[in-house]
Amino acid sequence: MGTHTDIFDIGRLGLSSGEGRRLELDVPVDDFDFGGQRYTVPGGPVSAVLDVSHTTTGYSLRLRFHATLAGPCMRCLDDAGHELSVDAREVDQPGGGEDLESPYLDEQQLDLRAWARDALALALPTQIVCSADCAGLCPVCGENLNRAEPGHAHEREPDPRWAALRELRLK
Ligand SMILES: [Zn+2]
Ligand SMILES: [Zn+2]
Repeated sequence: MGTHTDIFDIGRLGLSSGEGRRLELDVPVDDFDFGGQRYTVPGGPVSAVLDVSHTTTGYSLRLRFHATLAGPCMRCLDDAGHELSVDAREVDQPGGGEDLESPYLDEQQLDLRAWARDALALALPTQIVCSADCAGLCPVCGENLNRAEPGHAHEREPDPRWAALRELRLK
């Protein structure tokens, strides 16, 4: 408790080619905006498992963690807690071209905070909802339709343009 890791120096593991190490680290996860709403990960840093393997030419990395998001349902704006499992991999092989260089690894300094943030974003569902069958808000009055009377509806106001048109035709 209390300590967390933003940047992790994988060089200090002293791994030689072919060796690997599994570490448990507390990684901070920043608040983020998604679909116009704000989401947070309450409870401080998440406990993550980091696997580091020293390959012949570089590093192979895997980061796994669970996060509980807090923020509104995108349909009805009630609180919608959401559990996410993140499992991300990175390969870093200097000289192997752009695809093989991890943007999170710079001279053996692994930017865990940035990686965790991006990996979480990639693990998000297309919509965060309080329940799969959330009815959302009434488009006319904004009432939460999950709590509204069954059959909640509004009399359609006749469009004034139609009334004007009718008058024109009658003339
Ligand atoms: Zn909802
Ligand atoms: Zn309504």
